[in-house]
Amino acid sequence: MKSIRIAIIGAGMTGLKAASTLHKVGMDVTVFEKSRGLGGRLASRRTDFGHFNHGAQYVTARHPGFAAYLEQAASHNAAQNWKPNLHRGDIPAMQSAGNLALDHWYQGAPQMNKLISPLVDAFTIHKQHRITRIEQLDRKSFVLHDDLDGEFGPFDGVIVTAPAPQTAELLRPLSARYDAIGDVVTAPCWAVMAAFEQPLPTAFDAMLHPSPAISWAARSTQSDDLFHRRRPDPWVLHASPQWSRDHLEDDKDRVIENLLAALRDVSGVKLPQLHSVQAHRWRYARTEQPLGSSHLNGMNGRVIAAGDWCLGARVEAAWRSGQSAAHAMIETLIG
Ligand SMILES: Cc1cc2nc3c(=O)[nH]c(=O)nc-3n(C[C@H](O)[C@H](O)[C@H](O)COP(=O)(O)OP(=O)(O)OC[C@H]3O[C@@H](n4cnc5c(N)ncnc54)[C@H](O)[C@@H]3O)c2cc1C
Repeated sequence: MKSIRIAIIGAGMTGLKAASTLHKVGMDVTVFEKSRGLGGRLASRRTDFGHFNHGAQYVTARHPGFAAYLEQAASHNAAQNWKPNLHRGDIPAMQSAGNLALDHWYQGAPQMNKLISPLVDAFTIHKQHRITRIEQLDRKSFVLHDDLDGEFGPFDGVIVTAPAPQTAELLRPLSARYDAIGDVVTAPCWAVMAAFEQPLPTAFDAMLHPSPAISWAARSTQSDDLFHRRRPDPWVLHASPQWSRDHLEDDKDRVIENLLAALRDVSGVKLPQLHSVQAHRWRYARTEQPLGSSHLNGMNGRVIAAGDWCLGARVEAAWRSGQSAAHAMIETLIG
């Protein structure tokens, strides 16, 4: 039997879940990823003293399939439980330091982007290939073009898993069916990665919704006890959606200055001297208004849009969307 050739655009949780599902049923899968690394917003930045997780901070599971995935990842040492001392901005500080997480929180191990490693299999992954155009050759085949004048294919099916605005840009020229993606609303997020020469003298490792400027601040290492903190002490700060929108085009130095000042105000402690600091702007960080269905089919079921933005704002939504896009592709091509 001639093998079925599938292209997947994006190597985040959605794309790799779809790729691994299709590879397992014998399809010939090729993944295209514009970045140097895999994981997308499950992101980690390497430094000379360890990693910062500057995208997704932790993962929870409500769907039994995703819960099983996290357990499998933990058994492969690609995930670990995280129980930070959490301070919630909406509860007085004296009451709120403690392991307040109600459900199990997981992180990738040893860093966040490793959470996708159980999905990486013997299919081809082209890194640093940004797909700029999907060309329809005939009713049943498609060719992809990248930003370096490369041409790939033909493919029998394509799954696009970029954030909603980027997926819409690729798919709108093919069919009006994809116009619905335009209704999805995504918020940006400024992230600051600050390493302090001395441990930040707070009782908590993570703060949730502490101020209008910062929605999250967390120590980016695990397993240090209070008396043996790592030096430098790495923290990730996430600006709130509104603050990130209002300051989207600010330069990085200004963002760093503002978010460190906000951290000082909400933590009430004197910030130790900085060892290093960087900022990263996520233009499309968290879904505010999802599509409302797990994927979007078009071109006779052969070109499918998928991503966290179909169902929500969480890694679990990405996993579920990747799975259902793959099942829809199998239904179209194998029946
Ligand atoms: C700051 C921040 C904090 C978050 N916190 C949490 C959290 O605590 N818990 C939680 O569950 N979720 C969190 N999330 C959301 C979570 O990260 C996402 O829901 C999930 O990772 C999305 O996976 P995805 O595969 O759908 O998209 P992505 O991870 O964005 O993957 C899409 C991939 O497509 C690639 N791509 C885009 N365009 C092209 C192109 N033209 N050609 C080739 N490749 C392309 C991108 O480089 C990317 O790798 C957070 C996100 C951010 C940014």
